Amino acid sequence: MSKGRVLVTGAAGYIGSHTTVELINAGYDVVGVDNFSNSSPDMLKGIEQITGRPLPFMELDCSDRDQFAKVFERYPDIAASIHFAACKAVGESVQQPLKYFENNLRSLLYLIELSTRDGHGRGIVFSSSCTVYGEPDPENLPISENAPVKPATSPYGRTKQMSEEILHDCVTAYPSLKVIALRYFNPIGAHPSALIGEMPLGVPQNLVPYITQTAAGIRKELRIFGNDYPTPDGTCIRDYIYVCDLAKAHVAAVDRILQVKDSDRYEIFNLGTGTGLSVLELVNHFIQATGVNLPYSYAPRRAGDIVKVWANPEKANKVLGWKAGTPIDDVLRSAWKWEKKVRGIQ
Ligand code: UDP
Repeated sequence: MSKGRVLVTGAAGYIGSHTTVELINAGYDVVGVDNFSNSSPDMLKGIEQITGRPLPFMELDCSDRDQFAKVFERYPDIAASIHFAACKAVGESVQQPLKYFENNLRSLLYLIELSTRDGHGRGIVFSSSCTVYGEPDPENLPISENAPVKPATSPYGRTKQMSEEILHDCVTAYPSLKVIALRYFNPIGAHPSALIGEMPLGVPQNLVPYITQTAAGIRKELRIFGNDYPTPDGTCIRDYIYVCDLAKAHVAAVDRILQVKDSDRYEIFNLGTGTGLSVLELVNHFIQATGVNLPYSYAPRRAGDIVKVWANPEKANKVLGWKAGTPIDDVLRSAWKWEKKVRGIQ
């Protein structure tokens, strides 16, 4: 018996594809949408191979209202949506803020309108980010959901903050709407099958794809940005969370929206492990876990980097009954397995 239909926007993306797999495994019917602006149809094949069934899917742009409306016409049984589809390159957002406001905000506004227009009341799970906390005050670490939201340092971060505020206002206005905003820390790794994973275009900006590409010989060496930060080894600290653990939290959020009738209609959860790792610690874990040589050197600090942030995930642990438990070495091995698969390395 199906637990209901869930719309996944950005289903071919990194977190979207892993979440689609977990939703199907948990007994949901899914319809995926994506415009492949930063993803590949190969991911859909990967999802179908893992789950062993065809994935209902529509190629469309969520920032085009008429296109987006078609998915609700074809699938009137959508009970909840998970909204991943968005532009996410911080640097690009500084250069092209309007692209980010247009795309990320338009698609959200249409999703809310389409989810509420017949008074039907569909839930929305929104992809937010720990970037909303900015550089946390040290006494606020590990950071919990009630820590202050700091002014965004990029238009990308601003779209996440604005989206949360828009959703909050709309929950007040539309009594049938229920929302869960999930603030992700640093998602890494790939499905154990290596049939889906992260596919950065061009030179990776994020640490783990840069590490795996360096290990694969595509990049000469990893540059560690800054070793003079006020941390034990001088490198920045983050909370790295396995993408499959993260995906399962989305299933728990949909379960909560659809099954817990008296839950608050707007809720926020941090999704992290609760443990901070420095860049150097992560690099050493990778070398240890994979046995692969990883050339690296120290480079100047990267503009805009936060020194240290990690989650207090207790609220998600308690309320969603979810915990990120995969050991970091397993996570890094999954990232390496995926990179080898993509590059055809034995
Ligand atoms: N980092 C690095 N070299 C790289 C890419 C990232 O040293 O080639 C560092 C970066 O400065 C930060 C950490 O790795 O301290 C995580 O960076 P990422 O871009 O993955 O995530 P975010 O900055 O969004 O937390």
